[in-house]
Amino acid sequence: MSRPLPAILCLTVAAGVSAQKDRLAAALEQRVEALLKQMTVEEKAGQMTQVAIEVVLQKHAPEAARHEIDPVKLEEAVGRYHVGSILNVAGRAYTVDNWHEIINQIQDAAARTRLRIPVIYGIDAVHGVNYTISATLFPQPVAMAATWNTGLVRREGEITAYQMRASGIPWNFYPVMDLGRQPLWPRVWETYGEDVYLASEMGRAYIQGLQGSDIGARDKAAACLKHYTGYGFPLSGKDRTPAWIDTRMMHQYFLPPFEAGVRAGAPTVMVNSGEVNGIPGHANHYLLTEVLKRQWSFDGFVVSDWEDIKRLHTRDRVADSPKEAVRMALMAGVDMSMVPMDYSFYELLVACAKDGSVPMGRIDDAVRRILRVKFRLGLFKNPRPDPALKAAFHKPEFQAANLAAAREAITLLKNRDGVLPLARNRKILVTGPTADMLSVLNSGWTITWQGDREDLYPKDKLTILRAIEAAAGKQNVSYVPGTTFDRAMDISAAVAAAAKADVVIACLGEKAYCETPGNIDDLTLDEAQLDLVRALKGSGKPIIVVLAEGRPRIIRPVVPLADAIVVAYLPGLEGGRAVAEILFGEVNPSGRLPFTYPRFPNALSTYDYKVIENVQGNRVNPEFEFGSGLSYTTFEYSDLSLSSETLTAKGELSVSAAVKNTGARAGQEVVQLYVSDLYRSIVPPARELKGFQKIELAPGGSRKVTFKLRPQDLAFVGLDNRWVTEPGRFRVAVGGLSREFTYRFQRR
Ligand code: BGC
Repeated sequence: MSRPLPAILCLTVAAGVSAQKDRLAAALEQRVEALLKQMTVEEKAGQMTQVAIEVVLQKHAPEAARHEIDPVKLEEAVGRYHVGSILNVAGRAYTVDNWHEIINQIQDAAARTRLRIPVIYGIDAVHGVNYTISATLFPQPVAMAATWNTGLVRREGEITAYQMRASGIPWNFYPVMDLGRQPLWPRVWETYGEDVYLASEMGRAYIQGLQGSDIGARDKAAACLKHYTGYGFPLSGKDRTPAWIDTRMMHQYFLPPFEAGVRAGAPTVMVNSGEVNGIPGHANHYLLTEVLKRQWSFDGFVVSDWEDIKRLHTRDRVADSPKEAVRMALMAGVDMSMVPMDYSFYELLVACAKDGSVPMGRIDDAVRRILRVKFRLGLFKNPRPDPALKAAFHKPEFQAANLAAAREAITLLKNRDGVLPLARNRKILVTGPTADMLSVLNSGWTITWQGDREDLYPKDKLTILRAIEAAAGKQNVSYVPGTTFDRAMDISAAVAAAAKADVVIACLGEKAYCETPGNIDDLTLDEAQLDLVRALKGSGKPIIVVLAEGRPRIIRPVVPLADAIVVAYLPGLEGGRAVAEILFGEVNPSGRLPFTYPRFPNALSTYDYKVIENVQGNRVNPEFEFGSGLSYTTFEYSDLSLSSETLTAKGELSVSAAVKNTGARAGQEVVQLYVSDLYRSIVPPARELKGFQKIELAPGGSRKVTFKLRPQDLAFVGLDNRWVTEPGRFRVAVGGLSREFTYRFQRR
């Protein structure tokens, strides 16, 4: 066993490591400056230009399985226009070999240019490297949040980085640090849910896994925080529509997850594609320059979202010409333009530089930031894909990690009379539109942008139906679809089949979608699917509802009819198998909702509502609470205790509770710590999540769980829009128990 180093030696080693880091950083800055000095205006404008891969491919052939570079177009992009970055796929996922060909050709073209600056390739690897065929595709982010297990999210980051680099791609347009506080928004499933603390913890864990301590390592990649910020809170619920967020709310809710991501070392940030308070994300100097770059000392670069600089003119009408749009975005703080289908940005930026409307200092700052990230990624040393990584693209442990995540995500919300888990020898009817499709378990950013090409999904992965057949025996399972997503098909046939079955599994939910195509006018689940459950109820057989969905679609009319309700979210490629394992009790469910599940379309609230929403005739009455989820065992909480009655400005408070598994089987519990400020100068939320731990307990087993509370956990954005703490009484709650304490300043 190794002995701990003496403290003085530890300090010396740490000081040595940090001095070495400083030396490396200084050397890197020197290289950036040396390169910048040699660059022409045109080369600088090119570095700041990002085009889509379609621009350099032989033909626009989204249907082609193999894509080929057009050497003339590539030369034009990289040689003539000095393009600094390329993104995504044309159409659909490529093989690893195809990626190697493409990236090699691009980097070869870059190596032929005067300054040999490598291209940075970026991709939306939102739940794994979704644009590489046969990649490990995890539960989508909102489902990862439902695991409440940062270890699983970190592992996803590691595996994603590995498979990205194995594909030759070093830059991931993920994590999404928007909050899922507007349930209609079609991108809720790309978020880590509604809560600031949970989303920040998950985002941080993902970045740690993806980036490690050095994004230049051969199996690590760079993160991109998006979409900075307020994008996820459109008033209408439609994608890219106006958000109205006052300064305090912006600082309290929508900035902290991004700040956590910046502090975790994410070197790039993508801009909000919509607008907040009438200011388009791409024109928001305060957010991009004042907060991100100045206050947070962010030294990486800011990339626009798709076509969004152009849209300052064409859509948002804040710039009266395309050139003014470029000037506006640059001066707001955007460093790279995802143009992405032409060279207009390049031409306009060169013109802006020449007539001085964008000062050279601003352009240099942007290019410096881009070069810095390219150096940190090791692209100057190793621009090409590593064939050794390609050979080990698949590892059995990747699939195991994916399955583990799906198992821990799926959330059991109702289980009348212990109808679940199911015994295996029963006759089962499987019905509903999400029963026999893989696309509904994965949705967007899967093989294609919309993720809806069922024919392209791997044939060896199980849909919910196939997984149930495998678990229960095909002879015990019948399948009648009953409805499409929004139309009745053969509901009477489903009812007739139910009569012959012992139990009905109704698989409901949403078809695959991504971004604006996923907009809806009504949060309620399609009537046809609700009708299916209503009709099945007539059979008198127990009904298990399984929901495959990216946002909480309202199911109120069928909640009382269902004996059990299981939310699978979008559980990824192993999701079908994980659902079956939970239905048959091989796995004890341990997912907890990362959002508030609404009961009515016009009664949307979050768990951290204000008290007035729940008194004097008002009622917060969601269908299912944030943080809730059942298990096949039961847990009991006791002995909530505080290390002191008082927390001081420099102090720390330990909060402990005992948790016991009082049921008959092993299970995992998510212990959640909430804090309520009893009185403050700004109306306080009813409660705020400030800690969580996922623990496993054997039957009869118990554990003392301890959290630390510090003054910053009590801080909020005060009257002057700055973070403050105020002395006073606070309540902590863990598992239904609560205690109060006093927070006291010691004024000097
Ligand atoms: C999305 C971004 C994405 C980008 C590139 C945009 O439409 O809003 O999230 O990273 O496309 O694919």
